Amino acid sequence: MTATAIDGNALARKLREGFAGRVAALAAAGHRPGLAVVLVGEDPASQVYVRNKVNACEAAGMLSERITLPADVAPAELLAKVRALNADERIHGILVQLPLPPHIDETAILDAIAPDKDVDGFHPENVGALVQGRARFIPCTPLGVIRMLEEAGVNPAGQEAVIVGRSNIVGKPMALLLIERNATVTVCHSRTRDLALHTRRADILVVAAGRPRMITGDMIKPGAVVIDVGINRGPDGKLCGDVDFESCRAVAALITPVPGGVGPMTITMLLENTIAAAERRAGRVS
Ligand code: NDP
Repeated sequence: MTATAIDGNALARKLREGFAGRVAALAAAGHRPGLAVVLVGEDPASQVYVRNKVNACEAAGMLSERITLPADVAPAELLAKVRALNADERIHGILVQLPLPPHIDETAILDAIAPDKDVDGFHPENVGALVQGRARFIPCTPLGVIRMLEEAGVNPAGQEAVIVGRSNIVGKPMALLLIERNATVTVCHSRTRDLALHTRRADILVVAAGRPRMITGDMIKPGAVVIDVGINRGPDGKLCGDVDFESCRAVAALITPVPGGVGPMTITMLLENTIAAAERRAGRVS
C-alpha cells in the first residue's frame, strides 16, 4: 500500500478562502478582526513563525500588529504590554510567541492574556473549558489536525488513536479532542516503556515529540492514518517531521508530509480563532 499524502497547504488555502466573507462582514460592521503577535528577542525560528502569522493575517484582510521587544525586556514591561492589548478594542486575539527568554515566567505572561482574546487557547480558563467539552478557543495545532481528519473523511469514533507527546500545546489537547470524538485514546511520552507496541495498534497516530523521523514504517499498523506534527531541522538545514515519511508511506493509508502538512493548518486555525473572537465581540456590542 502507498499512502495518500494529505496536502495541508491546499486544505489551508481552501479554508482561508472561506474566511474572506466572514472577515468582510465583520469589517463592514466596524469589527475588522485584529491579531496582535508579541515577539520577545531575536530567535530566528520565532521570527519566521511571527512573520508567517502576520502575513497570513494581512492576506486574509485582517488587522495585524507585531510587537517586538528586546530579549532583556523587563517582565513588568511585557506584562504591561499584554494588559494594554487586553484593553485595545481593535485587537481580538493576542499571541505571545514562545519560547520566552528564561528570565520571564512564561506561565505568568500567558495567564495575563484576557481569556476572550486567548486565540492560542493556553489560558487555564480556556483549557478548563476544553476539558469539560465546552471549548471556546482550542489550541491551533490540535484543532488543525482535527480539521484535517474531517476533511479526509476520517471519523475517530471507535478508533484506536495513539498520540506520541503530552505537551500542553499539542499532545494533551489533542487527546481531549479525540476523546470528545469518541476515539479510544492512548498518550505516549518519553517514559513509555515500549512505544512501538502502542503505535502499532493505532488506527490514527498523531506524533508530536520533536524527534526527527523517530516513527518508522515497522512501527505503524497497515492502513493507519499518520499525522506528523513534528518540525525538525536536519543537519542539512532541511525540515523534517517526527515520522520517517518514506517508510511509513509504504504502510499507512493516509499520511501528512513535513513541510506542507500540519504546519499551514496551525496558522489557519489561528486566523479562524481570531475571526471567531471578533464575531463574538461584534455579537456583544452590536
Ligand atoms: P514538547 O517538547 O513540549 O513535547 C514533546 C513531547 O514528546 C513530550 O511529551 C515528550 O515526553 C515526548 N517525547 C519526547 N521524546 C520522546 C520519545 N523518544 N518517545 C516518546 N515520547 C517522546 O514539544 P511540542 O509538543 O511543543 O512540539 C512537538 C513537536 O511538534 C516539535 O517538533 C515542534 O516543533 C512541533 N510543533 C509543530 C507545530 C506545527 O504547527 N506543525 C506546532 C507546535 C509544535 P515527556 O513529556 O516525557 O518529556
